[in-house]
Amino acid sequence: MAELEKRGDRTPAPPKWEYASAPESREIVTLDERYGLFIGGEFVEPRSDDFYTTIAPASEEPLAEIPQAGPEDVALAVSTAREAFEDGWSSAAPAERAKYLYRIARILQERSREFAVLESLNGGKPIRESRDVDLPLAAAHFFYYAGWADKLEYAFPHRRPKALGVAGQIIPWNFPLLMLAWKIAPALAAGNTVVLKPAETTPLSALLFCDVLRQAELPPGVVNIVTGDGRTGAALVKSDVDKIAFTGSTEVGKAIQRELAGTGRKLTLELGGKAANIIFDDCALDQAVEGIVNGIYFNQGHVCCAASRLLVQESIYEPLIEKLKRRLTTLRVGDPLDKNTDVGAINSRQQLDKIEELVAAGKEEGAEIYQPPCRLPEKGYWFVPTVFTNVAQSYRIAQEEIFGPVLSVLTFRTPDEAVEKANNTPYGLSAGVWTEKGSRILWMAQRLEAGVIWANTYNRFDPASPFGGYKESGFGREGGRHGLEPYLAFDGSESAGG
Ligand code: NDP
Repeated sequence: MAELEKRGDRTPAPPKWEYASAPESREIVTLDERYGLFIGGEFVEPRSDDFYTTIAPASEEPLAEIPQAGPEDVALAVSTAREAFEDGWSSAAPAERAKYLYRIARILQERSREFAVLESLNGGKPIRESRDVDLPLAAAHFFYYAGWADKLEYAFPHRRPKALGVAGQIIPWNFPLLMLAWKIAPALAAGNTVVLKPAETTPLSALLFCDVLRQAELPPGVVNIVTGDGRTGAALVKSDVDKIAFTGSTEVGKAIQRELAGTGRKLTLELGGKAANIIFDDCALDQAVEGIVNGIYFNQGHVCCAASRLLVQESIYEPLIEKLKRRLTTLRVGDPLDKNTDVGAINSRQQLDKIEELVAAGKEEGAEIYQPPCRLPEKGYWFVPTVFTNVAQSYRIAQEEIFGPVLSVLTFRTPDEAVEKANNTPYGLSAGVWTEKGSRILWMAQRLEAGVIWANTYNRFDPASPFGGYKESGFGREGGRHGLEPYLAFDGSESAGG
């Protein structure tokens, strides 16, 4: 430890860098004043005749009028998807389906700057992340599932896979286009048609995606997009779909599960998390600090698998926390469209209120708060990257999903204690382990109750790798061959995984 401290002392704190602003131009994005619902390959007026305004969370500027689809609109979208399924899509040659998926992937690549700017504008995430993470991964998902579309018989040998019919999909606001890709790509590859509801606060990239579908000449009705708030989602859950795929809060996930119980409709739920990032004293400390920062401050901490609990081995607690605090002072919080920005805007007033409430609870319960000095823009929704030390396992900030840039630090002495503390949560989505010993990584991975475990890295995604949780983090997997299974029925006694 003395050695570590000495090393820490020698690393000079970065000098104060003054950045010139480097804004990405908004010119590339053309917004309509008012959108329709995308049903049957065209934008139609909502029968509900109800609209709301979507805004830019970084400036509170109104961006466009969005339909609040009612039950009648949802029913129309579902019956249109059903017709498209029965009148051609279900009998189309699998290689035809692959062709459309490849086209969509290529168009997303071609228009990636436009999508990245729109995603940052409507969602508040830094352009650096939408440009380098969301867009490349969204395109990669379409490429990946295009490859499976005509190989389902090989993916599931002797099981005669066939499409379910119409998939209803409900997605959150943290990765609007990426979650859309995670849901639509496997559904189409498996031969289903789709009705998707984007989150109320981030509908614009899904609406621009409709233009990609038209450009790709996807047959009308194969993908339909209905916008609106939770009521639209609830109407979709109640509608005549064959499967629901949901990503969002555990509370809404439970309500959906109750609604679908006994109906025979398939369900996959990707819900919240309270992941532990476990740092052993033999790890590469500087890399671990980068991993911690990426684990919790990436996308303002609006990440279901965010590493919101840091478990540090006691012997390196002090040097690690010192390095982490120093690193936090170099994070740039501000305009999502500035290419220098590390931490963008909080997605909505509602989410900011939730973060503020939990942070106040952390202070009240006795945790020690650290926030680097930081100048925040006057308008919009912002929260300074925060670290809580002196946290007890029972505190709300160690138990509840904050879904913001807030880290709770706990300590451990032995690997057994680390496992026990990491598993002390109702969730089970992800975890991180930092150590130089491969055997310890495997030992930990066998004991951690988490669907995804990263070793000496964090928040790495690949379309070939299945993602999903245990316990209150939900069930079913997205990504990889596993991600096709919930969209398929199988002959004989075997049924699709839920
Ligand atoms: P929700 O679970 O409410 O939202 C997820 C999606 O479900 C949205 O499209 C939402 O619509 C829709 N929805 C809401 N109510 C219903 C319903 N009764 N039936 C069907 N669909 C519904 O999450 P919130 O946006 O309210 O966020 C609250 C918390 O949830 C966050 O603070 C975070 O802790 C967690 N969360 C977890 C996510 C994850 O990736 N696991 C993602 C988002 C949030 P609408 O947007 O209009 O409300």
